[in-house]
Amino acid sequence: MPVCANCRHHWSFRETLRAMYTLKPTMTCPNCRKEQHLTAASRKRGALMPFLVVIPMLINVFLDLNWLAVIGEMLMIAVIFNLVYPRLIDLTEEEEPIW
Ligand SMILES: [Zn+2]
Repeated sequence: MPVCANCRHHWSFRETLRAMYTLKPTMTCPNCRKEQHLTAASRKRGALMPFLVVIPMLINVFLDLNWLAVIGEMLMIAVIFNLVYPRLIDLTEEEEPIW
C-alpha cells in the first residue's frame, strides 16, 4: 500500500482504491491533504496493466470459449487488478519523469 511521502501516513486499501479512480493525475493524501505523485516505477507497472485484458482474448483463440466465459475471465482480471494494483503503488512528492 502507498505511504504518504509528506506525513508517512499508510494509506488503507479503501483509500487507495478510491484515489485510483479519479480523473486527477495526482493522489491526495487522506491525512495531510497534500497532492502526491506516483513514482516512475509505479506508473510503468500501471502502464502494463491494460495488457492483462489481452489474456482472455489469447485464451479464447486457443480454446474457442463462448462469450460468457471470456466476459467472466475479463471480470476476474478486473477483480485481480483491483486487489493487486493498489499494493504496487508508491508515492512521491515530486513528479518524476517516466523515462
Ligand atoms: Zn500525507
